[in-house]
Amino acid sequence: MINKNIKSSAAIISATDLKKRIQHHLNSTLGDRVICEDAYKNTPQNKQAYWQATSLALNEIIIDKLQASKVQQAKSATKSINYLSLEYLMGRLLSNNLHNLNLYKSTEKALKSLGFDLADLCEEGADLALGNGGLGRLAACFLDSLATLDYNAMGYGIHYQHGLFKQSFKDGHQIEQPDMWREFGSPWEICRPEATQLIPVYGYVEQQAQTDGSLTSVWRAGKMLKGVPWDIPIVGYNSSTVNALRLWECRADSAFDWDTLNQGDYLQAHHDQVNAETVSKVLYPNDEHDAGNELRFIQQYFFCACSIKDIISRYQLQFGPLTQATSRNFADKVAIQLNDTHPTIAILELMRVLLDEYDFSWQNAWQLAGKVFSYTNHTLLPEALEKWSVSLFEHVLPRHLTILYRINEAFLNDEVNAMWPNNEAMRARLSIIEEGEQRKVRMAHLCVITSHKVNGVAQIHSDLVKKDLFPEFNQLWPEKLTNVTNGITPRRWLKSCNPLLSELLSKHVDDDWAKNLNSLSSLSPLADNASFQKKFMAIKHQNKVALTTEIKTLTGIDVSPEAIFDVQIKRLHEYKRQHLNLLHILALYRRLLADPDLPMQPRVFIFGAKAAPGYQLAKEIIYATNKIAEKINNDTRIQDKLKVVFLPNYRVSLAEKIIPAADVSEQISTAGKEASGTGNMKLALNGAVTIGTLDGANIEIAEEVGDDNIFIFGLTVDEVKALDIKGYNPYHFYETNNEIKACLDWLDTDYFTPGRAGELSSIKQSFLEGGDPYKVLADFESYSDAQQALGVAYQDKKRWAKMAILNTALMGKFNSDRSIEDYVKNIWFLTPSV
Ligand SMILES: *Cc1c(COP(=O)(O)O)cnc(C)c1O
Repeated sequence: MINKNIKSSAAIISATDLKKRIQHHLNSTLGDRVICEDAYKNTPQNKQAYWQATSLALNEIIIDKLQASKVQQAKSATKSINYLSLEYLMGRLLSNNLHNLNLYKSTEKALKSLGFDLADLCEEGADLALGNGGLGRLAACFLDSLATLDYNAMGYGIHYQHGLFKQSFKDGHQIEQPDMWREFGSPWEICRPEATQLIPVYGYVEQQAQTDGSLTSVWRAGKMLKGVPWDIPIVGYNSSTVNALRLWECRADSAFDWDTLNQGDYLQAHHDQVNAETVSKVLYPNDEHDAGNELRFIQQYFFCACSIKDIISRYQLQFGPLTQATSRNFADKVAIQLNDTHPTIAILELMRVLLDEYDFSWQNAWQLAGKVFSYTNHTLLPEALEKWSVSLFEHVLPRHLTILYRINEAFLNDEVNAMWPNNEAMRARLSIIEEGEQRKVRMAHLCVITSHKVNGVAQIHSDLVKKDLFPEFNQLWPEKLTNVTNGITPRRWLKSCNPLLSELLSKHVDDDWAKNLNSLSSLSPLADNASFQKKFMAIKHQNKVALTTEIKTLTGIDVSPEAIFDVQIKRLHEYKRQHLNLLHILALYRRLLADPDLPMQPRVFIFGAKAAPGYQLAKEIIYATNKIAEKINNDTRIQDKLKVVFLPNYRVSLAEKIIPAADVSEQISTAGKEASGTGNMKLALNGAVTIGTLDGANIEIAEEVGDDNIFIFGLTVDEVKALDIKGYNPYHFYETNNEIKACLDWLDTDYFTPGRAGELSSIKQSFLEGGDPYKVLADFESYSDAQQALGVAYQDKKRWAKMAILNTALMGKFNSDRSIEDYVKNIWFLTPSV
């Protein structure tokens, strides 16, 4: 019954063959850096060398498939999707690639005969953390699904030298260290110097008279950057397709600097070199926040310009010259998706190239842009909506700004004026330019005006995009705004990260569930079956034991796998409300101190979260959590009923360890603030029960699993809005709820920070003087009641097992393959190339 549909051509590679390939790389590719007499010993050096050799051996197989996919895609002449994203949170690649190629078992066997454990070796790889959180992880899941479904797809991004910072704690404070993911190179990437792009930047625009007397704009650039592409193969699961993620590294164009060099200014030439390299040096560590400086702007432009040029040259290589006459074919063969507004400049760059380099008329260029681009909105938070100053635009991209003005004029004069004649207020509201002391470019407006489709990422979020964010755009183009609910790849987030559960599911499901996740619903009748419950919960227990060891290693804290593992893992942000969780922990602690014999199932609260380095309050919440944890974990009076663990350096590979062991999934954002969430899907798929608000995809998860199998609490979107209109007064809750008051006042004392009272006061202040913008106090009581009900439910073993099983069984909708098929049907119009 298991894997009966596996058709992967690579499946024929035997363990013996793999062993030979691994040994070959050890002995030749890696030279004698590796191992001498201790060749079979698990020293750290040897493990690293074997990991590298295994990855290289696998990559060889993958590159063969990559070439074959290119041939097949050319032969079938299918339309391609070009996914533009400034972030890709890929995680480690070895285990996933092995699973997707159906080579995990044979590689395990090959390595065993060499004295190594594959799972252990997989730990050697660095995470590819070229993203902050959900947005970058979504891009990674989408690439997996696109290859799995045999679509012709290319991911475009930046080859950051340093990905998201590494987090550690010192005395409870977050410390950031640079991420060195490719200090000694990465076995997965392939440099493609033949596809290098030259990118002009700065300078001025000149008007030139044509022979017919008309004027054209000519951009005299002030500096030239060079984009060098690195390809990372993306292996489909049980499919014949391998696509590529193409990441651009920025270097100075030495040819351009030759003049400076010849003028004898050798040092200046080298200085420029360094400047260029800073463009792809580091990922900006802000999640849900706009960074707003020149280097970030150049990063965005650099990657858009490289990608647009590459898309056009790949098109021409296959289909011949791009001209006005062939432009319809271009739109038939190329779709470009903008993952948030970060790649908006791609619109202006395509227009510029068509106008200035391919002699398109304005009308033709604009029509083409409208056909190829579509845009995904990821946020309603005002601080995350990108706006760039007009003066920065003028300085860095003067030609693009003139194009932007023309797009805006046509939009305001034709479309806006037709719908709302002579309405100055409406023009000001919808203009791409925001007037004011400093004029700004609203990137989202440019995206909506240009794109043929704009999607939100969960139903409620898409509804709010229509109703609150872009109501006028929705009036202008009622068909444009749409929804594609996010998803996750079940390959990484179940098959690869939870092998024990995967094996159990495969025994009971008569289909390849890692592809057709809906088939897990056939488990529903087993949710009540005592013997299946026992097996399911035994696996959860085993995963908890494994996490217990990890927790001990990483933090030194002892926890019991008999306790409820209550997990909140995601970026640290006020809207995600880790501080609501923390406030409830304080309340539980107080209740336990008041009555040490309080009947309650022991709980371990597990956190994982990075705070943006400049986000002060977020860092203080981390510090407070660590200090409160220290106190609670060492308080013998509460008899280990409560433990708090903050695991450092939350990232994909750590998520893969936590999620299979979670009993409870905390999804407690203020209603209306979390666009979708994907962590909620990963946890539920692995049998964690959600406690959450009616926000983002939680609503759709509740629809799938049913109200009996989820703990919903708190204000709804409409109630939050009503409260804002009425005027929210957090002091009301402070003054009328003794528990809230006691817990907040506790933060002012030195109880958790002996001798240093006041260190945690900023959190209390944010709730009171700060106005509690995310309604933590308003939702506290409802949250506390839901937690109470959850604790009771857990003690009924059969009831809990049933809930956990149904969560796993009913997550089919959240397969990212389904999201991709939604995009394909409604936005991209692709056909598989196989
Ligand atoms: C899935 C994931 C996220 C997104 O989590 P949310 O709970 O949806 O915010 C962030 N970081 C990592 C490492 C992830 O794997």
